[in-house]
Amino acid sequence: MYKVRRWVVRHARLFESLYRGFEPVLIRLHPFWRRIGYARAEAPVKAVEKRVKGFLFDCQMCGKCTLSATGMSCPMNCPKNLRNGPCGGVRANGNCEVKPEMRCVWVDAWEGSRQMAHGDRIQVVQEPVDFRLEDTSSWLRVVRELADHPRERADSGADG
Ligand code: SF4
Repeated sequence: MYKVRRWVVRHARLFESLYRGFEPVLIRLHPFWRRIGYARAEAPVKAVEKRVKGFLFDCQMCGKCTLSATGMSCPMNCPKNLRNGPCGGVRANGNCEVKPEMRCVWVDAWEGSRQMAHGDRIQVVQEPVDFRLEDTSSWLRVVRELADHPRERADSGADG
């Protein structure tokens, strides 16, 4: 999946647009999710999310997606799980100090963000990883948050 995720970063603008089209669809389904119950929807939605985002982004299902603020490069692929930029160990060739064969996810994040319409979201400080959300659907969480607090979330730079 490494090649795929790097290809996605190179086409970050396209994926940003796709997500902007996908998010309203998810939100429109809010009454549906509420009717069947978010708890019951969690397993099937999570399974689809895991497959799709696993293939495209090497998603680790952290439960709180930041792709729109990280140039479509998943920060959970950083061996140190850094959510706010690279450590001081990026190699001169742009690769990771822990995995020398891998491009630093934050080098990719910066390059991806430069292509995106809202790439400056990379400057938004992200909250630390909340491991209680691990292996839960970020998509469903987004729908709930946007349905409850549309403005706050729009300003947060978070993604699904
Ligand atoms: S949900 Fe978390 S682990 Fe998955 S792509 Fe988004 S940031 Fe990465």
